[in-house]
Amino acid sequence: MTPLQTLKTLVSLQEIDVRIRELEKDREQIPSRLKEIESLLGGKDSELGEERNQLDEAEMSRRLLEGDLKAEKEKIKKWETRLTEIRSNRDYQALSREIEAARKANLGIEDEILKKMQEIEDLKTSISQKEQDLADLDGGLSAERSELEGKLRSINGKIAEEERLRDQAKQAVDDRWLRQYETIRKRRDGVAVVAVLDEHCQGCHMGIPPQLYNIVLKGERIETCPYCHRIVYYKQALDSLGEDFPQSENG
Ligand SMILES: [Zn+2]
Repeated sequence: MTPLQTLKTLVSLQEIDVRIRELEKDREQIPSRLKEIESLLGGKDSELGEERNQLDEAEMSRRLLEGDLKAEKEKIKKWETRLTEIRSNRDYQALSREIEAARKANLGIEDEILKKMQEIEDLKTSISQKEQDLADLDGGLSAERSELEGKLRSINGKIAEEERLRDQAKQAVDDRWLRQYETIRKRRDGVAVVAVLDEHCQGCHMGIPPQLYNIVLKGERIETCPYCHRIVYYKQALDSLGEDFPQSENG
């Protein structure tokens, strides 16, 4: 295999790796947004649950207060009956005072019941508002969630296809250069092979020394950039090989 042919196989591999990297970047965004959606919905849901508990408690207190009021009123009724049977003036005065005190206490209970009723009313309004908000949010986010899940499936499919192409492309590359390619790729942010354009490396944008530049233009040898150490190539030189090379890319 000529150096130019080897370069062409490396460039093909690099193109696939760049696409895989882009797809993986897109894919990375998805789980965090899905988690965000879960926590948004979960947060609203627990707020709602809290208010429903408060409503249950308020209704329970209201029933207890109403029970107390009923019992107190019955007690007063009995005392009033007893009052008509009392002969002693002193006992009469004493029971009258008791009745008066009990009536006053009942006014306090009635007041508390009214406050509870208002609280219940307010909670019901707030709960139904929150239920509506949650339903709206859930509707919007569910759509987004299924869109994201669909996107995830699609990206996974594309990555699998690119991996398949990569396996093919890899087979066309000379073993020694494949190892070097992988080493550089790991050290250089996923990009091991770059073009030179107007005497500059397109990886690090440094100027290529003239003597080296001439070698790269002709594709006589495989060279690396003296600054970023990526493998460099000249596009027109590769294009002269034609589209049919490497064969393995077509299966
Ligand atoms: Zn460079």
